[in-house]
This record gives sequence, C-alpha cells and structure tokens, in this order.
Amino acid sequence: MEEYNNEKQLLAANIFKLAAHFGEEYISGIAQRAVGPGKSELDALKHFNTELPITGANPFEVVKTLHQFGSPATMATTGGRFFGLVVGGVTPAALGASVLTAAWDQVAIVEATAPSAIYLERLAGNWLLQLFRLPSDCSVGFTTGTTVSNLVCLAAARNELYARLGFDLAEDGLSGVPPLKVLVSEQSHVTVFKALSILGIGNSQIQRLPCDLQGRINPAGFSEVDESTIVCLQAGNVNSGSFDQFDVIVPHIRAKGGWVHVDGAFGLWAAASPDKHHLIKGVELADSWAVDAHKWLNTPYDCGIAICRHAQSVHNVMTTQAPYLTPNVCVPPKDMVPEFSRRARGVEVWAAIQEMGKEGIRDLINRCCDHAKVLSEGLKRIGFEILNDVVLNQVVATIGTDEDIADITRMVLEQGICWFGTTYWQGKTAIRLSVASWMTTSDDIHLTLDAIEMATHAVLAGKQPQ
Ligand SMILES: *Cc1c(COP(=O)(O)O)cnc(C)c1O
Repeated sequence: MEEYNNEKQLLAANIFKLAAHFGEEYISGIAQRAVGPGKSELDALKHFNTELPITGANPFEVVKTLHQFGSPATMATTGGRFFGLVVGGVTPAALGASVLTAAWDQVAIVEATAPSAIYLERLAGNWLLQLFRLPSDCSVGFTTGTTVSNLVCLAAARNELYARLGFDLAEDGLSGVPPLKVLVSEQSHVTVFKALSILGIGNSQIQRLPCDLQGRINPAGFSEVDESTIVCLQAGNVNSGSFDQFDVIVPHIRAKGGWVHVDGAFGLWAAASPDKHHLIKGVELADSWAVDAHKWLNTPYDCGIAICRHAQSVHNVMTTQAPYLTPNVCVPPKDMVPEFSRRARGVEVWAAIQEMGKEGIRDLINRCCDHAKVLSEGLKRIGFEILNDVVLNQVVATIGTDEDIADITRMVLEQGICWFGTTYWQGKTAIRLSVASWMTTSDDIHLTLDAIEMATHAVLAGKQPQ
C-alpha cells in the first residue's frame, strides 16, 4: 500500500518538476517573443479541440501539450511591454508563492482547514491597511478582483444603510423596502454597475454625476444626500488615471449619513507612495475601498481586496454558520468574502509585500508613473495630442482620424514589440497605454515609442496626397 502511495507522490512531484521546467522556459523567452501571439500560434490552438476523452492520458503528455500549444498562444503580459487594460506582471516571490500554494492546495475557509495560509492572509491584510494608511480595524477580504470587492463593499453598504433605516435584509429581503439613492460618477467603471445590478440596484435607480475633462466628478453635484445614499467614487480613472476629490466630497457625504465607497482598483496604490499622496487626500475618510493586488502589486490573477471600515457590516452580509465549522479566534475569510471554499490568494500578497517592502512598492509605483510621463512626452514629440493629465500610470493619446488610430494600432500590434488598446475619450478615439509592471524598463519604453513612431509615420505618410 505504501509503495502505491509513493508512486503517486513520485508522479505528482515529477509533474510539478516538468511544469516548473516549462514555466522556466516560458519566462526565459518572454522578452524575445512578440507580445501578442501571431496567427499560426492562434491556429495551433485547434490541437486542443478533440472529442471528450473517454480514456485518460498520460499526465506528462497533458502538461507537455499544454506547454506546446498553450504557451505560444498567450499574451506576454509578464514581459515589460504589455500596456493594455491595467495589467501588472507577476513579481518573482508572488509567482513562487503561487506555485507553492498550488502544491499546498489549501482550502482557506477557516483557520482549521488552512492554518498557515489564513495566518499569512491576516498578516497581509494588516500590511495592506498600513500601506494604504487606513484604520487598522477595517475588514480585509481577499477576493477574485475589484469586481467582487466592489460587490462585497456595496453589499455591506446596502444592508447597513437599510439596517439603519430599520429594515433587516437578511431576514426580510428586498421586498417592500424604499429605494436607496445611489450616486456614481458618470465615469464609474463598468464593474461598479455590475456589482450594483447583482445587488438589485438597477440602472434607472442610479444617478450618474457629471465629470470634468479628466474624469473627476464635480463636487458641486451632491445636492440631495441623506442617510439612504450610497456614493461611489474613483481612485484612478481607468482611462485618465484621475482621482475624485475625496477631501471635499467624502466628509460632506458622511456628515449627511451616506456611505462612500471608493473603487481604487489600481489608483489606491498611490497611497503607497508619499510622492502621490496629494492625489488621494481624504480617501482614508471613506467607508469602503475596493482594490486589486493582481494589477499594480503584480501578484498573479485573481487577487482583489475588499476593505471596509465597518467590519461588522461586512460580516453581517457574508456570514455563514454550520455545525461542522469550528469556532475561530478571528473572523475567517468565509465571513468576509462571497466564496466559501477558496484558495488562499492572500499568501501571494504577503509574498509580494515581503519581497518588495514599503520602499520597493513605492519605487514600483513611482517608476511606472515616470515611465508613463516619458511615454506621453515621446508621443507628443511624434505628433500625438495627449488627452489626459498624466498624473499616474495612464496615457491617452490621439493623432489623425479614427481610422489612422486603428491602422497605427494594428500595425504596432502586428509587429509584436508592444501591446496596447484603443479607447474613446473626450469625444476622440485614442490609444491608451497603462504602465503597471515591475518588469518594464526604460528600454521597453523607448522600444515602444520607436515602434509607435514607425507605424505612425507609415500610416500618415500613406495618407498624404500624392
Ligand atoms: C480593473 C478595474 C476594475 C475591475 O477589477 P477586476 O480586478 O478586473 O475585477 C474596477 N475598477 C477599475 C477602476 C479598474 O481598473
């Protein structure tokens, strides 16, 4: 019997080694390859498209095939020249923690089922509150991303405001309750609306407040605020990187009894750099905050953080009880996030913070912002108009017609030196670049600018009358 077990262990260990070997090969090649996969790599994905297997395959072959056809058809987001969406890379210790915790395969529901993992998550939570300069008694839940963090925080907000108004949602549900007032920025991220919709707050119940040219909500727009009001603000607009004026808005809303939630998916990390504190003045006065670790802290996906000043209101809405769950010394993850069975993603956060320290994280934030500045200055030299104040890590730039933007972007992406997307900002089609990876160097920025310059000249020269 023992021998049989050892055979299984040996198999698992050897598969782990093989996967590590392929991972090493993948990482070593990341700087040399095209950032986006080409047509042949994408076409080769059809090798996976087989009938449902009836008999099993050799696990070595399974992993080998995955590497052979899956790895080439990835987007090289862990290299230094992926500037699409807001995508960080993955730091070495965070990657190591991810691999090791996969081997642990802990179910981080309560302390009893995952002692080290939950211990480390709790430490990571405390460190995050210090980095963000938030009160030490906030609830910190590790979610799959800011979408779910928005959901957790807004669920707590909804139930808490109703409780204060005398309605018990856990007991009586939503039927018969008066509507809440929900005020959001017209620039709020789409996932804020998704979270609200899941919570039973529909589009017609949401008031969208107007913003200035940078995407900042107009502070004068908050006239009718009371104790049934939820306000959603932004730290880091997904296009411009701008911040709402927390120091003006938050005290006003809270004084009237409303709840202020901040979507700070990447922008809240500005709190970790003293050089950026001016951008987020007053953010610490809010009721709840949603932020990602998988973006700017550069942990692997999927890792978001839901932080709430009113820990009890999160527990009230997320709590579960069952006779087989042992009592916990501290509030367990299952009572802070929607998931029950979950992987201890906070361990990767612990590893990334341990690896970089406060200073390393500050440097990461500052370096990305500096790169964004260099990008914007370079683009301006090429002839682009920069459509945003480059206050953080985002650059939105335009040139020529909508068609020119599309052609330039296509040409650059086909060349494979870098990858970015397009957006629509202040009435114009534009390219949009976000710098959020620890990997990105000045050389990457210059290679990117060279590629954009070449494509721009080619496209615009082709358009000139003969
Ligand atoms: C990315 C992002 C989100 C959504 O976060 P996920 O981690 O993708 O769920 C929400 N708000 C902003 C501002 C974002 O940039």
